[in-house]
Amino acid sequence: MNKATTAIVKQLLAASKEIVIVGHKNPDGDAVGSCLALANVLKAMGHRPQVIMPNDFPNFLKWLPECKNIHIYDKSVESSDVKIASAEIIFTLDFNALNRTGDMEESLKKASADFVLIDHHQQPDDFAVAMYSDTSMSSTCEMVYHFLKSIDADHLITSEVATQLYTGVMTDTGSFRFPATTATTHRVIAKLIECGAKNSEIHQNIYDTNTSDRLALLGVALQNMKILPEYKTAYITLSQAELDDHNFRKGDTEGFVNYALSVAGVIFAIIFIENKQENIIKISLRSKGNFSVNEFARKYFNGGGHTNAAGGRSADSLEETVSYFISILPSHKNELAHES
Ligand code: 5GP
Ligand code: MN
Repeated sequence: MNKATTAIVKQLLAASKEIVIVGHKNPDGDAVGSCLALANVLKAMGHRPQVIMPNDFPNFLKWLPECKNIHIYDKSVESSDVKIASAEIIFTLDFNALNRTGDMEESLKKASADFVLIDHHQQPDDFAVAMYSDTSMSSTCEMVYHFLKSIDADHLITSEVATQLYTGVMTDTGSFRFPATTATTHRVIAKLIECGAKNSEIHQNIYDTNTSDRLALLGVALQNMKILPEYKTAYITLSQAELDDHNFRKGDTEGFVNYALSVAGVIFAIIFIENKQENIIKISLRSKGNFSVNEFARKYFNGGGHTNAAGGRSADSLEETVSYFISILPSHKNELAHES
């Protein structure tokens, strides 16, 4: 974090403040971990922080220290709106535009608080008085570690904070294998282990919680997978009926798209998941190399994210969305063919 931003943040935090910390809709390990860790340290500094997530987070994160203190906006709109309206500072973590908070957006727009953004997504909107944005970072959790160091608060990293941060770095880097994982990421991780993060336990808590329903649903996803060698592309579909047949719970499809990307020769993978309740198709996109799924998701699917991982949505049916996707591919054939 640069000196100017550090100075602004230190100034904002000079006196005890009423603080709200917000992650993005459908919060993942990085959003939940970074918000909880920051709240923990701000509390130790004498502030009054409250984490508010737009909607619930997946069960595989429900063991995280202090996660029960999180307010879920869509389950407590009125009390959350009061908190947001009375906040003096609002931290926005792991997202780049207020519309990533879904129904919370309006309330955040009306807030009189000073906004502080900490995020690693591309093209952040300009809504914060202090903006720590770095798209080269592995995760927002890694950024929160650097942030705490910058404001001289890293001595407040307890084993709980270390556990929360470790979890987000681990989940956002695919367990330290994605290209944004740097030597510095590993140094941060080493520090977090020294501060008390139990790395092996955290891996088990996150990854070894499969239910037979989830594994059966993965089987369906893999059977539905189509490989298009001429585009080095693989895609997966899951209909609402298939989800219902396997007692779908939030988080169950997390990581499914990576199986499509793991096919030899595939550099572009996409999963289309029907959501009848929201009347949309939720889309997750992944790539290897220079093919930007951020741009692809922005251009065609009302979304965005990073070069190699992005999300989006479609208001059409599952079949129409897939047909549309297939109709787009020829215009990207050259780009895809030149990646290896
Ligand atoms: P996922 O596919 O796991 O939902 O998301 C992959 C990445 O893209 C995450 O970093 C996520 O925050 C981001 N992302 C997902 N959906 C959207 C979206 O609709 N807009 C933007 N800007 N980013 C998204
Ligand atoms: Mn992230």
